[in-house]
Amino acid sequence: MTEQPRMNVESFNLDHRTVAAPYLRIADRKELPGGDVLTKFDVRFTQPNLAHLESETVHSLEHMMAEHMRNHSGDVLDVSPMGCRTGFYVLLVGDHDADGFAPILEATLRDLLAADEVPAANEVQCGWGAHHSLEGAHAAARAFLEAREEWGTVTAS
Ligand SMILES: [Zn+2]
Repeated sequence: MTEQPRMNVESFNLDHRTVAAPYLRIADRKELPGGDVLTKFDVRFTQPNLAHLESETVHSLEHMMAEHMRNHSGDVLDVSPMGCRTGFYVLLVGDHDADGFAPILEATLRDLLAADEVPAANEVQCGWGAHHSLEGAHAAARAFLEAREEWGTVTAS
């Protein structure tokens, strides 16, 4: 697993053995033809290849972050779970850095902890309305917030 060829996807070039979750880092930044910028964050909840979130937890975190984060920033374009279930990608309009995004994420997770339901967890508004866990989302958000001081430390020393 040394000297991998350069891949198109940014995270495929990240050595997941070297990161120290939980953390927050910029995964990509794209300047559009008109000069506007998009910023994509890697919001990692669990240590890659050692732990992952349950599927219902990921799904509820996705709904709750997608809904609550938009109360704290008008720049949110997308919140998407990683297929490996270790974290999420958050895509923002504009030029953001991790220090600027961290308070938005923190406020979002505090709202999530205060919420007593998963928004849109029903068959009308979701593709698998029964597949949710408010308790799981709360536990994952609580653990992530408890590690707030470590969000800026992406790699293990
Ligand atoms: Zn859903």
